[in-house]
Amino acid sequence: MLSPSRIPIIDMHCDLLVYLSDVPGSLIDNVNEIGCATPALAQGNVKLQTMAIYCATAPGSTDYARLQAEIFRELAISKQDCLEPVTDITSLRQAMQSESGIGMVAAIENASGFCEEDEPLEDGFRKLEKIIENVERLLYISFTHHMGNRFGGGNMTDRGITRDGKMLLDYLHGRKIAVDLSHTSDALAFDILQHIDQERLDIQVIASHSNFRQVWEHNRNLPDELVQEIIHRKGIIGMNFVRAFVNTEDPEAMLHHILYGFGHGAEEAICFGADYFYFADFPDPTRYPFYFAEHEQAGNSYTYLLGRLQQHLTQEQLEKLAYKNVQRLLERLWS
Ligand SMILES: [Zn+2]
Repeated sequence: MLSPSRIPIIDMHCDLLVYLSDVPGSLIDNVNEIGCATPALAQGNVKLQTMAIYCATAPGSTDYARLQAEIFRELAISKQDCLEPVTDITSLRQAMQSESGIGMVAAIENASGFCEEDEPLEDGFRKLEKIIENVERLLYISFTHHMGNRFGGGNMTDRGITRDGKMLLDYLHGRKIAVDLSHTSDALAFDILQHIDQERLDIQVIASHSNFRQVWEHNRNLPDELVQEIIHRKGIIGMNFVRAFVNTEDPEAMLHHILYGFGHGAEEAICFGADYFYFADFPDPTRYPFYFAEHEQAGNSYTYLLGRLQQHLTQEQLEKLAYKNVQRLLERLWS
């Protein structure tokens, strides 16, 4: 039986690229500023970390996203801090076997990163191609962030999909890039599923970093109907460590989310999407601390949770949560 600290980890979401592009003096190995700094990823036995290219919906968003894609590319080329780009099934398997390497793959959190509100959609698709050229493999695209954009409503709204949103889905058909429902409104999520079904599009849906609304009421968490849709469509659901989405008072609720998933059909879908980001410049004091102490660092959070879950789950279930569910999805998506 593997000890929890030896189980490999795949994580579906962090904001390391935002930190590196945004914060003066940021350093990829500064464990005091971000929970997913490289020494913490190594200590936590993270074998594949998804790096989000995030931007707000605002003028200049595509420049900002392009900068993050370039930073990703530089990290991939320089291979500093043992970071290795994972772009296909072969490099995925290598990363999972690697002793000291940390695999990384890019994703887009908010489609405003490739298409601004007032530019022709075709120009946006060209910018998307440019990002893909830089990062080589894009794991997923979240259409929106909190408020939404030309493609649809974000998680703080109740707006559904737009005509551009449907065109983006048509564009993604057969492209082997998942669509992430973690920042959509419920209405947009259901509209995305409906359009995929109606047009018989070949698009995988996932929730990269969202917990369960049945456990903690928050619009960033998934209502049960969406949980079941994602399970039914063989997607994955990444458990988010941010206190606001776990339970603002009780750190044990992180375990409740995970066990709820196992108890409600998500055994083949559940995974980690810890959502580490740089928060020292965040204005709202009620959000502090952003993470409970036991979840705040990749160096020990996954190990801690897997250790606590040992009395509830089998070794096989722990491994599904830690990496097997995501690895299986990637091998299917990328084949
Ligand atoms: Zn997010």
